[in-house]
Amino acid sequence: MSLRCVQCGSKFPLYPLKIKCNKCGGTVEYDSDLSRNSKIKFSGQMRFWRYRSLLPPVKHVLSLGEGGTPLHKAERLAKSVGLKELYLKDETRNPTNSYRDRAAALLTSNAIDLHHNTLICASNGNMGASMAAYSAKAGLTCHVIVPKLVDVGKLAQMLAYDAVIEEFGEILDDSIRKAEAIAKETGWYQATAELNPLAVEAQKTISYEIYEQFGVPNLLIVSMGSGGTIYSLWKGFKELKQLGIAKSLPKMVGVQPEGCASITKVLTEHLTKVEKTRNPSTRALAILVAEPLQGELAIKALRESNGLALTVSDAEIFAAELQIAKLEGIFAEPASSATIAALKKLVEEGKIGKNDSAVCLITGSGLKATDVLQALTKKQKTAVLGLELSTKEKILRALNEKDTYGYDLWKMLGKTMTRAAIYQHLSELSEKGLIVGYEKERKKFFKITQRGKKVLYAIDELKLLL
Ligand SMILES: [Zn+2]
Repeated sequence: MSLRCVQCGSKFPLYPLKIKCNKCGGTVEYDSDLSRNSKIKFSGQMRFWRYRSLLPPVKHVLSLGEGGTPLHKAERLAKSVGLKELYLKDETRNPTNSYRDRAAALLTSNAIDLHHNTLICASNGNMGASMAAYSAKAGLTCHVIVPKLVDVGKLAQMLAYDAVIEEFGEILDDSIRKAEAIAKETGWYQATAELNPLAVEAQKTISYEIYEQFGVPNLLIVSMGSGGTIYSLWKGFKELKQLGIAKSLPKMVGVQPEGCASITKVLTEHLTKVEKTRNPSTRALAILVAEPLQGELAIKALRESNGLALTVSDAEIFAAELQIAKLEGIFAEPASSATIAALKKLVEEGKIGKNDSAVCLITGSGLKATDVLQALTKKQKTAVLGLELSTKEKILRALNEKDTYGYDLWKMLGKTMTRAAIYQHLSELSEKGLIVGYEKERKKFFKITQRGKKVLYAIDELKLLL
């Protein structure tokens, strides 16, 4: 096994670890001569280290029980998307609830082999949480450089696992540069997924498992941030084919948020290389990347597999997140919910056949990013229903409890607006037939109508949907 440049093919020794070719600047990956390995047999329980014979060699084996995650048959979701066969590779079941535990197991083992006591990792969440946990288990010191925009649940994990956390930059791109500089200066083990080729090796085992659990799906759908994950899964299937184990290959589908889609744009706009996104934005923070360091690898996976790349909006991502939870009982993080949003789009646009089988990679748990979910649902509610409606909604809710009159409503609403404004709302609600007025105790009382009740019910439904 050696390190090989994916662009010019130059070969390098296994150590020191490197990610960039010093001849052409291309990305470097592990290259195992699989033809010599053709009698390979996987043995032992279905866990990450079952595939040790296909991983770069390590002496120490650190494990928290990663890998061997379920391939969940998503029948209800498949029906709602309009697809015959859909599976979710549920990586939320890993020790720290994300697929990065596979990379952490291999990288930490390698760091121990190389006699490192301190590791450094730039991460906007999952990788930092994983490295922090595995370092804790091994008694190593883990430094994590996080950007300002980081999911709160993941930060909480890093804190609990006692990592040394430093905030640097707005987004992951900035933090990676910082981690690169620190490692150079200190000689600490570089555990940033984008800067260590072992991460791809570890993550390719996801495809080995999918193959053992199902076979080769027609489509393998993965969200793209830095681009390394989709390449890892592609590499896994390619190796199985080279080994003569798998007879075919899946078509890779890469998904990005509309607000930072530099990899997707290379394919849809026929660019020659990945260009940096100016002002990147998405609330799916795990895939918020301006300049994907492994973009070329993702493009390679998409092109070689004759695959597809597309974007989805944040609203579509969060709607998908709730749908996966509601229909399948799996609470996925926003970044991985994008795969379902994408699948839906592809079926609607007729770009994939209804009889195709698809596997979506669920990278991590929604519990890691609940803050984002809350923020988004709140924001959408006001944007969709409007502040005007929210006062009317409050009036309807009050009248749904009991009949009352204008002055009382004004008090109930906290006297935050003029009484004239309340009467104006009451008059508009009456015109729409949602409430009716009547005389009682020499006051004008209002009561909600059946139609008003239906509107309230519809508002509640809408809120659940958002
Ligand atoms: Zn090269």
